[in-house]
Amino acid sequence: MIDKIKEQEEISLLLDPPHEQREEWNHEILAHTAHFLNSLEKANAYYQNEDKGAGILNYNLSDEPARLSDLLSGLKSHIEEDGINPASGGHMGYIPGGGLYPSALGDYLAAISNKYAGLFFPAPGAVRLENMLLRWMSKLMGFPESATGNLTSGGSISNLIAVVTAREALDVRAADFHRLVIYLSDQAHHSLQKAIRIAGLGEAQLRYVQLDEELRMDNEVLRASIKKDQDAGLIPFFVNASMGTTNTGTIDPINDLATIAAEYSIWYHVDAAYGGFFKLLPELEKEFNGIEKADSITLDPHKCLFLPFGTGAVLIKNKKALYKAHQYTADYLQDLIDVEEEVNPADVSPELTKHFRGLRMWLPLKLFGIKPFRGALREKLLLAQYFHQEIQKVPGFVVGPNPDLSVAIFRYVPKSGDANAFNEKLIKAIQDDGRVFLSSTTLEGVFWIRVAVVIFRTHLNHVDLLLEIIKRETIELTSV
Ligand SMILES: *Cc1c(COP(=O)(O)O)cnc(C)c1O
Repeated sequence: MIDKIKEQEEISLLLDPPHEQREEWNHEILAHTAHFLNSLEKANAYYQNEDKGAGILNYNLSDEPARLSDLLSGLKSHIEEDGINPASGGHMGYIPGGGLYPSALGDYLAAISNKYAGLFFPAPGAVRLENMLLRWMSKLMGFPESATGNLTSGGSISNLIAVVTAREALDVRAADFHRLVIYLSDQAHHSLQKAIRIAGLGEAQLRYVQLDEELRMDNEVLRASIKKDQDAGLIPFFVNASMGTTNTGTIDPINDLATIAAEYSIWYHVDAAYGGFFKLLPELEKEFNGIEKADSITLDPHKCLFLPFGTGAVLIKNKKALYKAHQYTADYLQDLIDVEEEVNPADVSPELTKHFRGLRMWLPLKLFGIKPFRGALREKLLLAQYFHQEIQKVPGFVVGPNPDLSVAIFRYVPKSGDANAFNEKLIKAIQDDGRVFLSSTTLEGVFWIRVAVVIFRTHLNHVDLLLEIIKRETIELTSV
């Protein structure tokens, strides 16, 4: 028996490499990432490889160990230099990410100590740290100290937590789900509809509230719609406002919608996944007015707090309903005494064991302080306004509304021919160039190109390069 154990121990020790081996790997990984970061300024924002990353399939698993240098070269060719480069300041498509360097170090620290951040008992300090971050976000949004929430993997899970909590707060039987009415605009993020379906509310009625000319939800239309539904015996249940739509960055009238929701005792959710952290800028106080009246808020630190993907947050006032939706226990967890002092992340989220994602948020905010985040956010706002101004000076280009935040939309209107088809060609040409990346959208049948300035590495030189590429490609396309 002992011999057999020893034999297997010999093999399993391979999983715990000695100091020298770790140092060698550290060195190689750090050299690799340093090269990646130091080459970013020259790197493409978009790569279109013919095999679409299929080369990585040559690195399938096997019984034998591989060399790190070979793996890193595969990673570089088939993953890092393939598709969109979210680390590049030239990426201005969708709502791009970022990836602050200290966040990578925070992830490293989290993986090494592997603290169990789902519950207070095994990792009191880790849970305190995450709840401290949530309290910071709560305070930023003007929520009371009694509010709580969760550091999620992203805005979609945050929206899901908000929807199931609202469902529990209402205390309505499944047989009545078809009578529930959810109010949103057609510019709401699709993760909300997805959350509604996952929450079992697929039979609820969705009311797409009409937008005004500036693409904001129209309060009077909302009010009339709620009244009509009430009179018809339906249950107005949930109002979703967008604090910056993904499509155009437009801010709904947050305070007016709050007033209406309160008047009819409807759950008021503000999806601030894109725009929420702009609240760090005092000059945007007016736009955020009323967000403190929300029942729940979705935030996405992996957007405008520049963290790597996989960090969202949700803030909720009704702790009881939040617990009702998520709190479970198990026989094998009987040692975990209920500590009222701190909220267990597992009691307020679908997750039990989870990534200790607080470290990737806390480390950069502490190492840099909040000030440079304000500067970067203000810079992004100004860059979007600058682009919006400059592109209008180019003959033939028209723009959407003045950007509320850091997304601008524009299109070229050719003297003749199909404008939508032209803009499709234009965006293809920009993407083929690859130095910058943009994406597009359709509003009422009209094809628009979007510029989303969100990455912390996007500066004036990238926006100028973008303008230069647009002008050059437009000349090319109009001269054929
Ligand atoms: C990005 C976004 C979401 C979804 O968040 P993920 O982090 O991608 O899951 C939800 N709502 C809005 C407004 C968004 O911009």
